[in-house]
Amino acid sequence: MLRKGTLACSVLCDLDGVLHCGSRATPGARGFVERLKRSGRAFLFLTNSPDHSRRELQSNLRKLRIEVPASRFYTSAQGIAAFIQSNSRRPRVYVVGSPALRHELKRTGAVFDDKTPEYVVVASGGRYGTDEIDKSIELILKGGKFITASREPVSPSEKGPKSGCGALIAPIERATGRLAYAVGKPNHLMIRYLERLHDWNPKECLMIGDSLDTDMDLGTQAGMKTVLVLSGITSRDDLKRSATKPDYVFANVGEIDFGKLP
Ligand SMILES: [Mg+2]
Repeated sequence: MLRKGTLACSVLCDLDGVLHCGSRATPGARGFVERLKRSGRAFLFLTNSPDHSRRELQSNLRKLRIEVPASRFYTSAQGIAAFIQSNSRRPRVYVVGSPALRHELKRTGAVFDDKTPEYVVVASGGRYGTDEIDKSIELILKGGKFITASREPVSPSEKGPKSGCGALIAPIERATGRLAYAVGKPNHLMIRYLERLHDWNPKECLMIGDSLDTDMDLGTQAGMKTVLVLSGITSRDDLKRSATKPDYVFANVGEIDFGKLP
């Protein structure tokens, strides 16, 4: 796990667009994970997707012949559950989202309530239609606090972009006039809870990801060294137009040599 004071920087690494795009591995992903394990660095895969449990993420990577222990994942579903738990001991929650998100909320003491919840959580990975949209609007207008995993409108897949949480919350934000609070990257909450879970220092950490708006923004703000890979949603043109610059840029994780990084 992540521990403070290791000689080389610890590694926080995104998943989608970095190790895989949908169900296809990115070039060099398997070798990258093996080099990461051999490097002796502490590492954790940090994802804004609340769609899957840690076991499911492990199993999905195993299908790509990439082996990562389930304990080495931290998802926005865990982040949402930790955030809600830190504000309320036994919160009442209405959830539109994946079984994994529901499980994390239940595990941290939340009670599901579709009448007068304190929190309305809308995220990808579960059943989503006009019934869920209308119910969310009703409960938010009654006073439910509106939470989501991330504001990213799309996530990459092998068939092209698919709707992300940002697309799913948009009609509800429009109808209620309330903006959802996004717990995932670039929100520091995602690493604040990690700091509680693991004794580590962001300043001795590399953030590897494919998104300027989430991974690189979080890494820069937290004082980490940032590593952008161009195998996901960011193109060289996007990078040229970006006001912020990552410390290192690679075409894909296959090019990353840990011997040449801090
Ligand atoms: Mg990504």
